[in-house]
Amino acid sequence: MKESAKAPIIAGLIGLFVLALRKSSPNRPFQLPPPSRGKAMTTPPISPLARQVPGVRDPKLGRSRARAWGLLLHTTGGGVTDKAKKLGKTPIAVAIETYINSQNGANGYFWGGPGYVLEHDGTLHQLAPDNIVTAHAGGPHRDQYLDGTWLSKVSPSMATEWHRQWSVNRNPYSLFPSRSPNEDYIGVEMIPCGDGFGIPMRPGLRFTQAQFDTVIALGSEMGKRHIWPVGWQKTARLLGHEDVDPIERHDSKGGWDPGWLRASPYFDFDYVRSRIS
Ligand SMILES: [Zn+2]
Repeated sequence: MKESAKAPIIAGLIGLFVLALRKSSPNRPFQLPPPSRGKAMTTPPISPLARQVPGVRDPKLGRSRARAWGLLLHTTGGGVTDKAKKLGKTPIAVAIETYINSQNGANGYFWGGPGYVLEHDGTLHQLAPDNIVTAHAGGPHRDQYLDGTWLSKVSPSMATEWHRQWSVNRNPYSLFPSRSPNEDYIGVEMIPCGDGFGIPMRPGLRFTQAQFDTVIALGSEMGKRHIWPVGWQKTARLLGHEDVDPIERHDSKGGWDPGWLRASPYFDFDYVRSRIS
């Protein structure tokens, strides 16, 4: 049989198979595909710089990826320090409890949350190995980023700062190679200073010197472990949640997660990018 004649038959068989699969699977609200579709990662998924958190969701229940492409930084926001103060707990205890619950479906889907959490004293906690895809930076705005209408959904400061960083020829979903930032980036949540916890590296910022030191150490370690190209830290392989989802992560002064794309930044990406080796 000629190749051209075979193609429609094969396509038809695949179509029937997909239909059968659809019929047999119940409607599920989870954002991530099932674990059976995973691929093996060829680089080690555990950071030697991090403490492994006990009691996390079993990675065997996650979907694995063949590679991690970059590092994406978040801030947990002030809710963590506020809750810690009210409950008499440490911020890191509150954050870890929150993210283990998110891994187990507290937000309506499994594997919500970051791979790592960073506390004020610079201690890094790993909650998911780097080969597991977690839902930390996805969202419903992909179409608006691709068609340009996102610019009407963000403040003028956000748009200005975003273009200053990435140029007018790009959009938030052209920064990374796949369809979703969750697929490509390892997420790190940083607890901000506040409610009596932590002293910022300098006035105006919201993160401690120790947190900056650990982000730099982690970037240096991770880039080598995952064999990212030399200079990766000065490309979109390193960015913040506000870079890929400015609609959800902006206010009138610009981006706040973690707060670099604004006139008076909360986080200093220049400092980090220039020190990762
Ligand atoms: Zn975030």
